Amino acid sequence: MKHLVALVDCNNFYVSCEKLFNAALRNKPVIVLSNNDGCVVARSNEVKALGIKMGTPLFQIRHLVEQHGIQVFSSNYTLYADLSNRVMNALADFSPQVEVYSIDEAWLSLAHVEQAHLRDYGHTIRNMVMQRVGIPVSVGIASTKTLSKIAAEIVKKHPEYRGVLALVSLSEQELDLYLSDVHIEDVWGIGPRYARFLRDHRIISARHLKYADLAWIRKHLTVVGERTVLELRGIACLLIETKPRPKKAIMSAKSFGKLLERLEELEQAVATYTARAAEKLRKQGSVAAHISVFLHTNYFQPDQPQYANSASSTILFPTAFTPTLIGHALALLRGIYQQGYKYKKAGVLLTRAVREASTADAGGGCDQYGMGQGYALLRSARADACLADAAGKKVAALYHALEGAIVCDLKVWLIVFSSCQRMV
Ligand SMILES: [Mg+2]
Repeated sequence: MKHLVALVDCNNFYVSCEKLFNAALRNKPVIVLSNNDGCVVARSNEVKALGIKMGTPLFQIRHLVEQHGIQVFSSNYTLYADLSNRVMNALADFSPQVEVYSIDEAWLSLAHVEQAHLRDYGHTIRNMVMQRVGIPVSVGIASTKTLSKIAAEIVKKHPEYRGVLALVSLSEQELDLYLSDVHIEDVWGIGPRYARFLRDHRIISARHLKYADLAWIRKHLTVVGERTVLELRGIACLLIETKPRPKKAIMSAKSFGKLLERLEELEQAVATYTARAAEKLRKQGSVAAHISVFLHTNYFQPDQPQYANSASSTILFPTAFTPTLIGHALALLRGIYQQGYKYKKAGVLLTRAVREASTADAGGGCDQYGMGQGYALLRSARADACLADAAGKKVAALYHALEGAIVCDLKVWLIVFSSCQRMV
């Protein structure tokens, strides 16, 4: 199946948001300023026509503001985030795969749309976003993300396309004509440094880059540059990512408000940090296969006795289950704890995080995974119950952690339950 994507890009997004709630601003020059009201971060088309560039400090264009009656706004990020959400929700109706790329841009997979209908589909998206949210968008359709970016940029400069350009139905020669007009620094993925380097080597347009020698590009611009060239040639290297990439490592650590000496106090802190890290792990749908715990005294009090240590272990059945992880973390902590020191900081690091499903696959079938996981959980749950009894103060932290885990890990508990049934 041919890879087909649409980049939907909100036009002058912050300015469009301001204009949405103020009819008097229609066809007026408008700018939005950065956080501290220092620089221009969004411009209406009227302002662009005056030659005012992005990032220009306000004091440099004071005379233009007065002369042309430019309306000046401080940025209102709460408003922009709200409208961005509404745009993204509207887009979700048009594709099973939507990747939100930034506050005002998203990619949609259009693999389900027939080539002959792509343009009409683009116009429907545009009209629907306008109707439902009131924000004008540009739609660039192409066979790769890099080309769709170019299409969306061309659309903005040519009102005759009425907001939509599909680069897919073009011949190679027609496409190359478009690419000749795109400056090398405007190609997505080519930063200013590479743009200068390429210009020095007479690669000054997207078309030049498309036909550049691949090995030479790889040598000087790494595989990232090579990917861009392939994408310009219509070979999709960058796919739509609907979920944020899961983090491979999750850390939860904190300096204590006061120095801690007793093991029980450290246990309480480490249990809480582990619960927090486990929650992050579950949120991204991962399980961890490795856990580390560290602690140290206050480095900035050299007159005090100093101690720092860490320990780690592999988790036999990768998990995001809070009680299991706390069990591991506390065992590690007890191994490295030394009496007689005042501790400033402790932390937990969960690593080798993988998606939950891939562990099930690796286990060779859900049933087998469920049974193994079930026994392990039962053992660790019992162990944790004993630990909780032993350290009175820790109970509160564990209870807190368990409560969260039970809600989030309903699925895991069901596995435990079914394992028990089978054991009986
Ligand atoms: Mg935009």
